[in-house]
Amino acid sequence: MIIAKVETSRAAIPLKKPFKTALRTVEQAETVVVKITSECGKTGWGEAPPTVVITGDSMESIESAIRNTLAPQLIGKNLLQYEQVFHLLHHLLVNNNSAKAAVDMALYDLISQQAGMPLYQFLGGYRNQIETDYTVSVNSPEEMGEDALAYMQAGFLVLKIKVGKDQIENDILRIKEIRNKVGNQVKIRLDANQGWEVKEAIRSIRKMEDMGLDIELVEQPVKAHDLAGLKAVTDAVDTPIMADESVFSPRQAFEVLHNRAADLINIKLMKAGGIYKAQIINHMAEECGVECMVGSMIETHIGITAAAHFAASKKNITRFDFDAPLMLVKSIVEGGVRYDGRVLTLPETPGLGITKVHV
Ligand code: MG
Repeated sequence: MIIAKVETSRAAIPLKKPFKTALRTVEQAETVVVKITSECGKTGWGEAPPTVVITGDSMESIESAIRNTLAPQLIGKNLLQYEQVFHLLHHLLVNNNSAKAAVDMALYDLISQQAGMPLYQFLGGYRNQIETDYTVSVNSPEEMGEDALAYMQAGFLVLKIKVGKDQIENDILRIKEIRNKVGNQVKIRLDANQGWEVKEAIRSIRKMEDMGLDIELVEQPVKAHDLAGLKAVTDAVDTPIMADESVFSPRQAFEVLHNRAADLINIKLMKAGGIYKAQIINHMAEECGVECMVGSMIETHIGITAAAHFAASKKNITRFDFDAPLMLVKSIVEGGVRYDGRVLTLPETPGLGITKVHV
């Protein structure tokens, strides 16, 4: 199967409610859609949303990396030798992980179509259904309590609460209000998106433990580059700590694993540069007894379908943060992963299972 054409286009879909974290507020999902066509006429789909405050990648940089650097070198390459193709993808330019992820997804779509298998089976086939959490954006304690209750009533059993935007004392009030509203039937995980200082994180997580708020895990309490600080938090509290922005590459995963700087790792295709590298992170973590979550940026059904195929395929991936498509007012995709409330079911057709993208 020879790569014949690599095309990009843009899509923008409004969100039902603004998505607010310590790092940013998003009101509309913007994304670069990639379509790779083989000489035999098969189509592979991928996407990359710009997340300048997380990855540094913008719409323009993603488009430029794909059109000007990646596409010209990939055209004519044979996907029967996909190890060569992925080596090329990751060595043509440094960084630009979102652009690489979009191309990687489309390549895996084609490779698994060539193999005649749905992608999740091609990658390992561990399960074909997974359950997502739902994210509560950071707002006033009252608004977050109402949102949490509504998501619980909609059937979500795990809520991911965004914190870290202002005073940490306010975060404790938020969690207390949410726990009061939803009771003990729902798992609560926190994501501070780097918003806390090391010592205040330790103090506050301990306080939440003492208050019996029953927090499943805390994601990225401190700055991405501060591995020593992340380790200090991990060592000082009982609540499991998950690395997110601290782990983009397998090399960074190695540092976290080697130093035991976190208990868990959140893998995202936009950080890792796609499924090829994401698999390496997961396998390294598995060898070290560290479970992984797979999450996403504010992506459409294209990126989530690819991430869900990967996440479902691996035993060591035990947590799933795939609520982004549920936040969009509409889908631009036909086929792909199917949502029934919190349950995602992978398609059984070869590849990603995406039949059409409206761009
Ligand atoms: Mg996170």
